[in-house]
Amino acid sequence: MIYADNAATTAVGRAALAAMLPCLISDYGNPSSLYAFGQRAKEKLEDARARVAACLNADPKEITFTSGGSEADNQAIRSAAALGAKKGKKHIISTAFEHHAVLHTLDALKEEGFEITLLDVHENGIVTAEEVAAAIRPETCLVTVMYANNEIGTVQPIAEIGAVCREKGVLFHTDAVQAAGHLHIDVQAQNIDMLSVSGHKFHGPKGVGFLYAKKGIRLRNVIYGGGQERGKRAGTENLPAIVGMAAALEDQLLHLDENNARLIRLRDRLIAGLAKIPHSILNGDPVKRLPSNVSFCFEAIEGESMLLLLDDKGICASSGSACTSGSLDPSHVIMAIGRPHEVAHGSLRLSLGEDITEEQVDTIIREVTEVVEYLRSMSPIWRAQSEGKMDYVLK
Ligand SMILES: *Cc1c(COP(=O)(O)O)cnc(C)c1O
Repeated sequence: MIYADNAATTAVGRAALAAMLPCLISDYGNPSSLYAFGQRAKEKLEDARARVAACLNADPKEITFTSGGSEADNQAIRSAAALGAKKGKKHIISTAFEHHAVLHTLDALKEEGFEITLLDVHENGIVTAEEVAAAIRPETCLVTVMYANNEIGTVQPIAEIGAVCREKGVLFHTDAVQAAGHLHIDVQAQNIDMLSVSGHKFHGPKGVGFLYAKKGIRLRNVIYGGGQERGKRAGTENLPAIVGMAAALEDQLLHLDENNARLIRLRDRLIAGLAKIPHSILNGDPVKRLPSNVSFCFEAIEGESMLLLLDDKGICASSGSACTSGSLDPSHVIMAIGRPHEVAHGSLRLSLGEDITEEQVDTIIREVTEVVEYLRSMSPIWRAQSEGKMDYVLK
């Protein structure tokens, strides 16, 4: 099997597993218990907090552990909205190609009387700081723009957007779930007020993440109950997962430059190979993208059929996001970069893991090329196009 869906989730790495096992077997105390056995767990919890904070150039007090990226997004946006509402500021700026954890939280806030501006994304999958600046109004309480897109992999000018928000006194949150553990992040240098991370996207376990919130930002609870996480997130801490996530993040950063140099080479080999398929187009900027991400649209193809045929050949890939596959609407991300409906349906995302080999990349190129040819050979639209009775959408 070739697993090329690392943007959906990753395998737990050795570093994470080694850190987790003692928490599961021997140090299983509750960090809230006062006896020494509980306090040993508490020490591990605070050690993990210090470690993840250091990975982002943040202070440990600025880290709140959550159940994952979705919860961190919800809490960041809800907190900024509550702070804004107190001052009568009920306008939020975001983009059309955010993850649903952001978009659906914004939908809920809209119901509650907030005004939401979703910025358009350029064809290259980038939103500029100038566009963010132009959308900011006196009543804007939050700008939330994702760090790297989960479908097309494009990396946004986060430091510049952060600088604009700082200058205008507006809180800036970024969903960094696809970036953390894959790119170097510095919350101070990049002017980031709030940032969401999820463990399972960088070889940590599932069901754990964290929210970074700059000192002085008052978080609002999403989960109420006990006083864990300084009263901002109730529930007994998932210590094995938290410790595993911290170890995974540190381990990723240790090997990041070396791994990324290799990934970029293999990514570009894959892009060059797939670009040879006639009437195909790369989604997102060729350079300002995650080292692991390859995203294409193919003319006259159904993405779902392509995935099933690739699965038969032992290749795990994605079309649109995992959350929307199964529905017949094309991906909101592919639509946001302006691909026409017919073409948006034929999207394919391949997200490479650090252990991918050149041979596997060449296998993917060969198999995708074959699958596209096969599906086109059965497509009435493709036949009409190749007989000149219908225009191609893609050159
Ligand atoms: C996966 C993902 C999330 C959700 O994270 P979970 O930990 O699965 O809740 C949010 N945003 C982006 C960009 C993602 O890729």
